[in-house]
Amino acid sequence: MSTQTTFASLGLDDRIVRALHEEQYETPTPIQAQSIPVVLSGRDLLAAAQTGTGKTAGFTLPILQKLIEKPRTAKVAGAPRVLVLTPTRELAAQVHESVVTYSRHLTCVAQVMFGGVNINPQIRALKGRVDILVATPGRLLDHVGQKTVDLSQVEILVLDEADRMLDMGFIHDIRRVLKYLPKTRQNLLFSATFSDEIRDLAKRTLGNPVEVSVAPKNVTADRVEQVVYHVDQSQKRDLLSHIIRGHGWHQVLVFTRTKHGANRLAEKLVKDGLSAAAIHGNKSQNARTRALDGFKNGKLSVLVATDIAARGLDIEDLPQVVNFELPNVAEDYVHRIGRTGRAGAEGEAMSLVDKAEVKHLKAIERLIGRTIPMRDLPTDWVPSAKPDADRPERGSSLRPQHRSGAGRSGAPSNRPRRSGSRPGGSTTSPARRGGDRRTGRGARPS
Ligand code: AMP
Repeated sequence: MSTQTTFASLGLDDRIVRALHEEQYETPTPIQAQSIPVVLSGRDLLAAAQTGTGKTAGFTLPILQKLIEKPRTAKVAGAPRVLVLTPTRELAAQVHESVVTYSRHLTCVAQVMFGGVNINPQIRALKGRVDILVATPGRLLDHVGQKTVDLSQVEILVLDEADRMLDMGFIHDIRRVLKYLPKTRQNLLFSATFSDEIRDLAKRTLGNPVEVSVAPKNVTADRVEQVVYHVDQSQKRDLLSHIIRGHGWHQVLVFTRTKHGANRLAEKLVKDGLSAAAIHGNKSQNARTRALDGFKNGKLSVLVATDIAARGLDIEDLPQVVNFELPNVAEDYVHRIGRTGRAGAEGEAMSLVDKAEVKHLKAIERLIGRTIPMRDLPTDWVPSAKPDADRPERGSSLRPQHRSGAGRSGAPSNRPRRSGSRPGGSTTSPARRGGDRRTGRGARPS
């Protein structure tokens, strides 16, 4: 992507560009820069892109542009011009929200439908105008069956996260939906992976598609020193504080998996005496700008961000990037550490990995084609007896436990107490992988 590319230069209407500015999107992401011209040209698109790349705007923005350029002439009620199929209700809701955001200065009407909720409000809504319908396949077919939706006006079909749809067994539903669509239409297929099944679906659905992909940048080989510390989730924040203080790091971008986790960590780092702030989508623009400015001008030494929030930030060339939690998607690791070691600068990417994340670490190592060296826990680090709790002071009676080498089992009284919930989110169960994570420090679990 040329650094000169702007949303306006891609040919998007001023009203769309205005909405993007309001969202503080100044520059298209690579997937957007690649896919917007293709969609505008009317060609079918096969896009390799996962969540977090900005793919939703990649298809939504040019679709809105096309809807503006060619106002509808036919039936309005219950007959969408655009159908976006997603695997899950969460993604459907998210895509719908994005469509609403980007179209806020337009007159387009977007609706969302998914299963597990009362169908009647959806039926009522379909009695009115709908331009863009975002749906999960099962519920859509319910509506088709009840004739509450009319798919005969669909001009553009989007299959979002097609690989997940296939994983979830939606292939038959998708095929059934396709039968209700007009033969002549534009098709866009987004998928993070390209299995034979996806290729097969693409062959059946797309006509001579343009293929675009956002391959992870190969930054890992160069100037970024990568290290892994194996440490319990509950001890991570304490270790992180210790390392930041010990090294006197003044500009550290820390990644967490969730917004909630980012908030909690930033608050706790502040309690540890560090100047830290969280930045993510739920923060007001003012708060985001303040945090970013502070980080850039040196007033704030730690910025805690989610992948998504960090993507929109104009901060590269960082000396330190920390993965407080590893990303679920290996490519995100490459994006994260790509923030450091640029333009001749030396950078270090440090990952704090607990037992449950070892599988993610392995996937990352497969992707980058190397093993990330493990570093022993600092010898002068005294783990907190009350990990991840608000610590008025460090317990001087605690002696360091097992600072290097293989697994250990510390004295029970000194054992870190697991906190009830993981800062990074609640998706993983505490008792996973058949072991006590408390004993997982210092050694790479197999
Ligand atoms: P997606 O990959 O579509 O799930 O997008 C991930 C997130 O990236 C969205 O929720 C937006 O907040 C953000 N985003 C998308 N495009 C841009 C952009 N051009 N600049 C900054 N943030 C963006």
